[in-house]
Amino acid sequence: MTLRAALRVFASCLLLAGTIAVSQAQPVQAVAPGTPVTAEQAAHQIIELVTAADAATAKTQYDLAAARLTDAYNLLELANDPKLERNVLNSLATLFYNNNQLVQAGQYYRKLIALDENSGDEQALSVSYFNLGHVSASQQQFDAAQALFQQAYKLSVKLNDPSGEAYAIKALGVNAQAKGDLPKAQSLLMKAETQFAALHDDRQRAATLRNLGDVTLLLHEPKQAIAYYQQAVPLLLDAGLSGAVIRCYRGLSQAYEQLNEYITALKMQRTYSELLQSELEQINNASTQRLREELDLRHYMDSNNKLELLSASQQSLLEQRQHLLELQLWVLVLVVALAACLGYMLWRGSRTARQLHSLATTDELTGVFNRRAIMEAGRQEWQRAKRYVQPVTCLAFDVDHFKSINDTFGHAQGDEVLKALTATISDMMRQTDTLGRIGGEEFLLIAGNTDLVQAQALAERIRQRVAAMMVSGMDDRHVTVSIGLAGYQLNLSFEQTVQLADKALYHAKRSGRNRSTVYHSGIGEVPVSTGEQPQLRVV
Ligand code: GH3
Ligand code: MG
Ligand code: MG
Repeated sequence: MTLRAALRVFASCLLLAGTIAVSQAQPVQAVAPGTPVTAEQAAHQIIELVTAADAATAKTQYDLAAARLTDAYNLLELANDPKLERNVLNSLATLFYNNNQLVQAGQYYRKLIALDENSGDEQALSVSYFNLGHVSASQQQFDAAQALFQQAYKLSVKLNDPSGEAYAIKALGVNAQAKGDLPKAQSLLMKAETQFAALHDDRQRAATLRNLGDVTLLLHEPKQAIAYYQQAVPLLLDAGLSGAVIRCYRGLSQAYEQLNEYITALKMQRTYSELLQSELEQINNASTQRLREELDLRHYMDSNNKLELLSASQQSLLEQRQHLLELQLWVLVLVVALAACLGYMLWRGSRTARQLHSLATTDELTGVFNRRAIMEAGRQEWQRAKRYVQPVTCLAFDVDHFKSINDTFGHAQGDEVLKALTATISDMMRQTDTLGRIGGEEFLLIAGNTDLVQAQALAERIRQRVAAMMVSGMDDRHVTVSIGLAGYQLNLSFEQTVQLADKALYHAKRSGRNRSTVYHSGIGEVPVSTGEQPQLRVV
């Protein structure tokens, strides 16, 4: 991997980290879940909302039910389904009517009437007229109520719906009573009672009888009123209409009072009071129970909300931690990439430095130390010898008649001779010895921990090996070297010792070459040659 490639990898890492950071910073655009887009989705959601509203109504959570139904109402246009529309409008109107929110109830019933008129469903329209009539009556708009009940009645007759007829007649009767038209109320209620009896609708018949009792009492016909009430009570009890039973006893008490039968009137009044008290207790218990349930529900919802909040905060904490971990990972990746690049650059730098050092200390042709390096090595060996009191010897080599070799075989062949010579010497020297080229065909060998006697033996071995050396392209021409040796002396520097070795070498040359000569300080300045006579065949 080259440095450029490593930098490219590093740049990619930076780019990737940047891309991730940017993508995390961008907000995600999304459609809110649950927002219906098609008519089918809207219809589905309306059904869900109506179901939720029914559940809320069952738990007497009317505000919640109204909110759900209003949401459903707002989706009606998109759903475009008249059946669903009727269902939602009817639920809304009923809910508001039951909560005594009469204006809203009236609004939705009117919409319902418009819808039923449009669809031509007269059965439904009759019911809607009837219901709106009740709303109007509750708002004390008795004339409007009467008109609506009459429309309901007409449609029931037209549709041959005796039950619808009976309901409408009863409503008209009660309405007439409210308007103060008691004879008309009495006759209508009687008619309704007969019709309910024929329909075996005991519940409605009982309620009508009670109304009839009230109207009759107002008409000061106490005996007849008592008869109505007495018929009504068992039927009302069977139907579970306890409130109406209580009112019957109040009516009975008043009727007996009109008849001046005070004891019976008192009895009825007492029964009325007892029933009323028990009814009130029941209502009280029921409302206490409802309140308790509401409180429980609220408490449950509160703790649920708290749990949701806790879970949401934990979720966001988790997300933050994950985000932090991701960031840490990317920082780690970047640091590792950086460290890898740095390490690679350092390794390359040190390799280049090693190469440069090697180039600066090595002789290009032979691969041994160059002059500067061998001189430096020599100086260090001399210091070591001084510190550890060890012997060290310097051997100076010079190829004999090298000029003649060059002239005879060419300069390139001369180079090959120099290479073969260094290879031979390197092969023979120890690890502690150092060889260097100090001139054209001149070499220095520093023999560490070696005294002059040992060095001379080494020089002789080298000289003989070189003389026996076969160099290709040289026919049978042998190469010889002359060697000058000088050993470490306490008062002499390395450079001075090299000069002495040179002197010995010069002596070897003069003595006939192919020999080694030791510079011997004990015999003054005169080196003593120990080499053999050369056996050269000079061309
Ligand atoms: P002597 O025995 O007295 O040492 O004789 P010589 O011919 O070896 O001595 P001289 O100093 O006259 O010649 C040395 C020759 O070595 C001269 C030069 O051309 C040659 N020379 C120096 N460096 C190189 C080199 O790197 N390669 C080659 N082939 N020849 C070189
Ligand atoms: Mg020379
Ligand atoms: Mg020479």
